[in-house]
Amino acid sequence: MLCPKVPSFMAYKVLRCQLQQINNIFNCSVNIVPHHGRTYTTSNQTQPVSFVPNSVPPSENELAELQDLIRKSKRLLVLTGAGLSTESGIPDYRSEGVGLYARSNNRPVQYTDFLNKAEIRQRYWARNFVGWPRFSLFSPNVSHHVFSEWERVGKVSWLVTQNVDALHFKAGSKRLTELHGSAHRVECLSCENKISRIEMQKLIISQNPEWRASSIEMAPDGDVTLTWEQVKGFTVPPCQKCGGIVKPEIVFFGANVKKNIVNFVYERVAESDAILVAGSSLEVYSGFRFVNRAYDQKKPVAIVSIGKTRADKLANVKINAKCGDVLSAISI
Ligand SMILES: [Zn+2]
Repeated sequence: MLCPKVPSFMAYKVLRCQLQQINNIFNCSVNIVPHHGRTYTTSNQTQPVSFVPNSVPPSENELAELQDLIRKSKRLLVLTGAGLSTESGIPDYRSEGVGLYARSNNRPVQYTDFLNKAEIRQRYWARNFVGWPRFSLFSPNVSHHVFSEWERVGKVSWLVTQNVDALHFKAGSKRLTELHGSAHRVECLSCENKISRIEMQKLIISQNPEWRASSIEMAPDGDVTLTWEQVKGFTVPPCQKCGGIVKPEIVFFGANVKKNIVNFVYERVAESDAILVAGSSLEVYSGFRFVNRAYDQKKPVAIVSIGKTRADKLANVKINAKCGDVLSAISI
């Protein structure tokens, strides 16, 4: 059975080229302010890693325990979260000191507010528009490539990510469920027409020829901070087929993952023989339930994540270190 969420947008290199052209036309820029206060202009530049929380390297014992668990597994289910993408330069929500919640009062939009209030949609899309050129160009890091390689050689039976940044797709993972959707696709809430996020960017530019704004801070979904004053005059293009409301094809806060996708992942849990969580605090139930299910089915649970997680008590192995350091040290 194919995953209902296999991404279908164009090859990454073509995507990157188109984005660069759009960025050049619009001259977008986002300044990201890390916790120590230095500002980086991120348009058209390589951004230094700034959003990985402090941690100590993994010990030999910890690596040996994880190595043993991974070696024994023949059908490994992997579940990843925002902590995996911090090493690509994308902040997470909850990490101490460096996560979005620690650095900013900016909070994700609630789904019902987006649905019911035109001014919330206007602000959301203005911010998303300014953040997109930078957000869309983030690249996979060593952990994304490790999982892609583990899939290629048959170690990983399925990968579930809570991230909407498409970095697993860019790294080449195919047996993939994007649990919370992808910021690279846009859907109409009335007729369900879908377009790529690039098409949406072009539409926005065509309907906002004079509008300009820049911002500080970026969220894990590409959102940035703008004032209400900056948002004034921004036009949100409606669905080009029916005139309906459009939104990125991501699960907003306050909304639920579709039942068919949840059941699909439960099936992947059932057919796996172990589960590895990488870069997630599992605070959100939508991911935690799968670890809980694996634990109930007496499958070994391994967690690699900096800081406490909701499933620490369920884990056979827990390593409190950078995903890249740990995963690149495992041989299969
Ligand atoms: Zn429509």
